[in-house]
Amino acid sequence: MNTMFKIGGGLIAFGIATEIVYQVYLRWKGKRKDKDPQIITDVLFFPDKRVACLDFFHKPKGCANKNCRYSHSDNSLSELYRHLSSAKKCLDVCVYTICCKELCDILISHHKRGVAVRVVTDNDQLNLTGAQVWRLRSEGVPVRTGNSSYYMHHKFVIVDRELLLNGSFNWTRQAITGNQENLIVMNIPHVVNKYLGEFEKLWVEFNPANVHKSELHAEAKVQLVNGEEKW
Ligand SMILES: [Zn+2]
Repeated sequence: MNTMFKIGGGLIAFGIATEIVYQVYLRWKGKRKDKDPQIITDVLFFPDKRVACLDFFHKPKGCANKNCRYSHSDNSLSELYRHLSSAKKCLDVCVYTICCKELCDILISHHKRGVAVRVVTDNDQLNLTGAQVWRLRSEGVPVRTGNSSYYMHHKFVIVDRELLLNGSFNWTRQAITGNQENLIVMNIPHVVNKYLGEFEKLWVEFNPANVHKSELHAEAKVQLVNGEEKW
């Protein structure tokens, strides 16, 4: 009987000790999560009332124009300027429509400072009024597009391979001051890594050499269907 009491008491003591250890672990884990300064999550909503002044938010000397008609107050676009400007090593831009001069000014200035800027965009958007792709290319920024009749419809940017901005936001004046748009900002590694993978996949796929190969392949298919024997 005594032995039974001893075994029962031992089991209860073991159960209590296990529960205490588990509760201490949960509290430690909770505190660690609260204190983790590495996680950034935010969302920017558009439209803004006015376009943010790039000089005011981006240039060290600020805006010298006393009659500046752009906004000097914080808004969603100024936050986007800030995130893009924070790039120290690389900026990967994958956006369907790129017509905003101010955002491209940041890409060009970063490119000139040695930040590795890469741009993927849609081929059908190249000749839109205000399209900035030709300007980016003339300044030496590498830009790649596919040749598909389907859209390269993404709108995301990765800063220094660790911060992701993704949402509905195209780089146009209409998106800045007209449309309802959203842009999520996060640095959750497993999510950012998936977007990095998608960017690298498109970068290879849209390499002019590979695009040319796929054009030849498509042409060969057409000729085969038509019963010609050139291929
Ligand atoms: Zn200004």
